[in-house]
Amino acid sequence: MTDASSETRLQIRIIPVTPLQQNCSLIWDTATKHAVLVDPGGDVDTLLGALDHFGLTLKEIWLTHGHLDHAGAAHQLRDRLGVPVIGPHKDDQFWLDQIESSAAKYGLTGLLNVTPDRYLEDGDVLELEGVKFGVVHTPGHTPGHVVIHNTDAKIAFVGDVLFQGSIGRTDFPRSNHEDLISSITDKLWPLGNDVQFVPGHGPTSTFGQERRSNPFVADVITGYGGAEKVDASTYDQRTAKRHT
Ligand SMILES: [Zn+2]
Ligand SMILES: [Zn+2]
Repeated sequence: MTDASSETRLQIRIIPVTPLQQNCSLIWDTATKHAVLVDPGGDVDTLLGALDHFGLTLKEIWLTHGHLDHAGAAHQLRDRLGVPVIGPHKDDQFWLDQIESSAAKYGLTGLLNVTPDRYLEDGDVLELEGVKFGVVHTPGHTPGHVVIHNTDAKIAFVGDVLFQGSIGRTDFPRSNHEDLISSITDKLWPLGNDVQFVPGHGPTSTFGQERRSNPFVADVITGYGGAEKVDASTYDQRTAKRHT
């Protein structure tokens, strides 16, 4: 995905951060070299090095949800570069308030609690050099999770809602499995089968591929679009990898 969106002048690099290998996305406009980071969860020096390497000026930080591996470096990057932290939805503030205590449980240091400069709501629009990104509120993995997408480039940054062959964990406080499934089928599938998505962990995929083969949310499991349902393959579901 080196040039997912040549028509819109956007470049994207995925930079895995923290021992949890969270996919931080660096997005920039090739003309102005202005950039945003989606989910800078840690490894501040790596991210600063990437900005420097490509000669970029960071303008904003966008967060999909409040988990430490997605938001843990936002506070330091804001302090160092003077850029606003935008998102997630306000219902994830309780997660943003426990980044430091959660990190300690993983034995991670240097990740800080953060309060965004602005929360996001369903239907909000973010912008990088005139390129618009839609915001969809997708509760389930966390109550304040959002997905950020660009229609022209057909790309979505979905955090821990959906993965190639899996879905987000819902065994956390205020997680909700039914909400997660509804978020995926009601909010993500309508964006289009050809949308490529960057998940919070692991390889990219497309919504169409997951509608065909994902053991949790394939159409034959959810009945989406009037699909004839088959019994959920509990074996596949149990063995599918799920991420924080
Ligand atoms: Zn994660
Ligand atoms: Zn998460």
